[in-house]
Amino acid sequence: MKHNLKTVASPSSDWTPDTWRSRTALQQPTYEDAGELDSALAQLGALPPLVTSWEILKLKQAIAEAQLGERFVLQGGDCAESFADCTSPIISNRLKVLLQMSLVLVHGLKKPVLRVGRFAGQYAKPRSADTETRDGVTLPAFRGDLVNSPEFTPAARRADPSRLIKAHARSAMTMNFVRALIDGGFADLHHPEYWDLAWVDHSPLAAEYKRMVASIGDSLRFMETLGGESISYSRVDFYTSHEALLLHYEEALTRQVPRQDGWFNLSTHFPWIGMRTAALDGAHTEYFRGIRNPIAVKVGPTVEPDDLIRLIDVLNPDEEPGRLTLIHRMGNDKIATRLRPLLEAVKREGRRVLWVADPMHGNTESTSNGYKTRRFTNVAGELDQAFDIHAAVGTRLGGVHLELTGENVTECLGGARGLVEQDLDRAYKSMVDPRLNYEQSLELAMLITRKSAG
Ligand code: PEP
Ligand code: MN
Repeated sequence: MKHNLKTVASPSSDWTPDTWRSRTALQQPTYEDAGELDSALAQLGALPPLVTSWEILKLKQAIAEAQLGERFVLQGGDCAESFADCTSPIISNRLKVLLQMSLVLVHGLKKPVLRVGRFAGQYAKPRSADTETRDGVTLPAFRGDLVNSPEFTPAARRADPSRLIKAHARSAMTMNFVRALIDGGFADLHHPEYWDLAWVDHSPLAAEYKRMVASIGDSLRFMETLGGESISYSRVDFYTSHEALLLHYEEALTRQVPRQDGWFNLSTHFPWIGMRTAALDGAHTEYFRGIRNPIAVKVGPTVEPDDLIRLIDVLNPDEEPGRLTLIHRMGNDKIATRLRPLLEAVKREGRRVLWVADPMHGNTESTSNGYKTRRFTNVAGELDQAFDIHAAVGTRLGGVHLELTGENVTECLGGARGLVEQDLDRAYKSMVDPRLNYEQSLELAMLITRKSAG
């Protein structure tokens, strides 16, 4: 089904990419030297963009279709990308796990899956405190590789404007590699064997996954025998997303596009506003209001229904299809009470949104041996409840948002292999939040398909 996206009015004349500067901008670093920052921003403003407006509009159309239940969104990747992880195996393994999950979802949900990576720009992190103290020494918090470096030294923690340029370059390299892999047929559904991670055969889930792959191969061949269109299955699209946190960076990559009305953030297809920066009168809301990308907002357990409706009024005043996605992240213990009133309010007001569940961020805890972790049972439990609550209200859960990696890490507890606290020491690599490893991700995809099969 086609929607006319062209009828939407351009942002009001009181908006420009820098009007956010007159509002309170939370979670921004303090740069010591304004001249150094300005010169980095000037360089950034002259560099080519990372994505194009036509890709962005195509994604908006696809999200509009997801709002109608015609597609399911799989959004996933690292909590924080790092410059050091901009390597061939890490990028291709992340792509592989997302492809495998999407194959499971296509097979189980019987509808196209829209793949959105948390990559090619996920370099800035909100923090609960501006500073960190160790052994009586206080330094600025690590805010992601876009800003500073995680080592606990004054030099590493200084907000360094040259990182803005490096992040753009790393994002471009990531994007370039992802595009080349996809153009080269890496993501062809006829050849899922390309996506096997080295240790997939040793997984307790391998047999079930292999059965699925075989059955998808059969149905593709069947459709081709009939002369039907399997084109949409053979090639897949990948879109990029990141939390558009550092507004100087986002502003520098916000561009007017010839023959298109309005401004686009061309650093990513699908930026989102994090939970900590989603205030109605805050700088992030002001910035997001004016860009034409499809956008998302994280919605946490303290959000009240009236506030959410007011935020929707500001971010999607024209009820544009595909424009607004709401990602709820309540926690397994809070979703039962906190989600329903929001769904009911949005439904009652007849607002057009895509609902996506992030079952990660409300379920973070610390272990006795000092790791930040998440229990697979809580992640799966929140997702399970999310499907039920949407069904009870008569709204639709149209996607999931996950922190995951294709690496064999041990950061989240539980899952098919029953990881316990003592396992975390073995391969805990995340710089910020704990990610599902390959098996836990695949298991979650299987749970989703079982759930929606009823
Ligand atoms: C994140 O997605 O990494 C994040 C910080 O999420 P939230 O804004 O939902 O806390
Ligand atoms: Mn995170």
